Amino acid sequence: MERNKTKQVRIGGVALGGGAPVRVQSMTTTPTSDVARTLEQIGRLYAAGCEIVRVAVRDEADARAIRALRGRSPVPIVADIHFSADLAVLSVENGADKIRINPGNIGGEAAVRRVADCVRAHGIPVRVGANTGSIEREHLQKYGRSARALVESALFDVARLEKYGVGDIVISVKASSVPLTVEAYRMLAERTDHPLHLGVTEAGTRESGIVKSSVGIGALLLDGIGDTLRVSLTDDPVEEVIAAKRILRACGLEKDYVEVISCPTCGRCEWDSMGLARRVERAVFGIRKPLKIAVMGCVVNGPGEARDCDVGIAGGKGKCVLFRRGEPVGTVRAEEAEAAFLQAVRACLDEDGGAPSANVVKEANKTAVNGAKEANKTSVNGAEKVNKTAANGAEEAN
Ligand code: SF4
Repeated sequence: MERNKTKQVRIGGVALGGGAPVRVQSMTTTPTSDVARTLEQIGRLYAAGCEIVRVAVRDEADARAIRALRGRSPVPIVADIHFSADLAVLSVENGADKIRINPGNIGGEAAVRRVADCVRAHGIPVRVGANTGSIEREHLQKYGRSARALVESALFDVARLEKYGVGDIVISVKASSVPLTVEAYRMLAERTDHPLHLGVTEAGTRESGIVKSSVGIGALLLDGIGDTLRVSLTDDPVEEVIAAKRILRACGLEKDYVEVISCPTCGRCEWDSMGLARRVERAVFGIRKPLKIAVMGCVVNGPGEARDCDVGIAGGKGKCVLFRRGEPVGTVRAEEAEAAFLQAVRACLDEDGGAPSANVVKEANKTAVNGAKEANKTSVNGAEKVNKTAANGAEEAN
């Protein structure tokens, strides 16, 4: 897939745009001035795969907390500021790696110039953009609540910063309507080479929000549009990161992961293949190595349907068949299926990549445990099981 060529900006140590990988970002939900809780959340976001974290700056205490956060955060910090040039400047002076502002509400032309001078002096990028709720009045009157209005409004803000010499700008044009969002980004991509931040705003709670974001962000990514994305969910932000990673994987933009193929099951399924598929998917989520594995409901069609998988399992009454690339390689009792399958996955990871399995499993375990300690207990259980399987495997080998 050919990606749109955009300019590259740097957010702390992370390159964005200009051929860099599409970056996953999220936003903390803790009060930013509560440094301990915010850092704990940033740690969980990072462990789940988040590369850039945005924090809300509501007052001076939040702006000053950025210094402490930045010193200990594993990812760059973006300060999100509204209505105050003072807070924008204070955030930058305290080490923000990027700021997100709306030049239309920051306090007039002199304030825009002051913020522009400050970010230029510190060499950090700015994100500007329009949401359907923040379209500049002039553009709203001229174009209504439309894709054109979002694009013109965002480009108007870009021009306001460019006028004062700011060149490192990231743009967003978000709506809660998926068709409107997609139309606006497609239009915007034709008009600018600044990197684009993708998102469907106010997408909703987890299930509907993931569907809306996947459709909107996925359509754009498949068009080659977008340099960073945030999935907005009314939920734990770790869920945003997990969803964002899954969108990137589904679009073929992240290849180093274990893809789990599983059948929907039907009347032929006589064992809990759904449960195993869920547990396995959680257990392998953090492994950063390309592998395709399958959990299939029955031995009648399972192995054949999953022929292109590296390793798979298909269930029957009381027993399961393990297979490699569609060919049966052994039979296990149903109660041993999970351990045996994860052990086969581990062996396959060793063979294909040559890396010591203990390290791979340890890494998967660390990611799952750190990333999801509080947010995703099942993931922890899954990872523990991978570990246990590894330990059993090692014991057996000894
Ligand atoms: S693999 Fe077997 S159980 Fe799964 S959908 Fe196909 S026929 Fe049904």
